[in-house]
Amino acid sequence: MGTKGLSIVGVDVKELLTLLNKALADEWLAYYQYWIGAKVVKGLEKDEAVKELTEHAMDELRHAGMLADRILQLGGTPVLDPAEWHTIKNCAYEAPTDFAVKKIVEQNIRGEQCAIDVYQKLTDLTRAKDDVTYRIVQEILADEVEHEDDLENLLEDLG
Ligand code: FE
Ligand code: FE
Ligand code: MG
Repeated sequence: MGTKGLSIVGVDVKELLTLLNKALADEWLAYYQYWIGAKVVKGLEKDEAVKELTEHAMDELRHAGMLADRILQLGGTPVLDPAEWHTIKNCAYEAPTDFAVKKIVEQNIRGEQCAIDVYQKLTDLTRAKDDVTYRIVQEILADEVEHEDDLENLLEDLG
């Protein structure tokens, strides 16, 4: 375990590491929810949805990488066992049961709304205290806001 991150003024690094690992579990589950959604989605508007879902899946995977790198920089260990994702996650994993475009997109919108809340809290926690983590969670937050907006627009296009 490194100690270089332990001197961040005003931040409980152990608590921050716990929160970053919870967000990391969320990102893997969000990645899979988008990835599997893109595989099973059905309907006339399927092609546009597959494109968007696949793009978002890749963004979630990139977010997972950003969080894992920061956890390591802070001297922590990124969650090692996927079996733990469900116990530490913040956001519900919604397995697709109805494969209609509208239902899949609605499930992912709920996921994004939860993610926005998670990263809003992480930006509040690190603002003016841990600039590196702050920049990372702010960048992810901006992506999640864009994701939600994209999905809302997709729903609107469906009518
Ligand atoms: Fe994400
Ligand atoms: Fe997202
Ligand atoms: Mg998009």
